[in-house]
Amino acid sequence: MKTTYKGSCHCGKIRFEVDADLDHVRVCDCTICRRRGALIHRVEENCLRLMTPIEDLSLYQWHTKTARDYFCPICGILPFRRPRTAPDKWGVNVRCREGVNLSTIPIKYVHGGHLD
Ligand SMILES: [Zn+2]
Repeated sequence: MKTTYKGSCHCGKIRFEVDADLDHVRVCDCTICRRRGALIHRVEENCLRLMTPIEDLSLYQWHTKTARDYFCPICGILPFRRPRTAPDKWGVNVRCREGVNLSTIPIKYVHGGHLD
C-alpha cells in the first residue's frame, strides 16, 4: 500500500512529496552510488511531486548522460535522480524523507558497477 511522504534536502530549498510502497531500499555499488551512500527507492513518474521547480536544482550527468542526478545547489544533497536503467522513473533518496525508520526496511543490494 502506498504512503505519501514529505521530503527535502538539508537546507530546505528543495521540497517534494512522494507516494511509495516502501518495501525495500536499493544500495548500489556503481562509481557514484558508492561514494554518495544514498538509499534509493524507485517510483513511477507520477508518484513524485516537486514543490521546488526542477530548474532550481543542479544537474550532474556523466558517461552516457542517461542518468540524471539532481542535487541542491546550496547544501549539495541529492533528493532524487533519474536512473540510467529506468530513465522514465524517479529514484528517490529515502534518507531525504520524513517519518521513515530506516532500520526496519530491507536493503536490496544492486550491482550497478558493471554499468559504469
Ligand atoms: Zn539544500
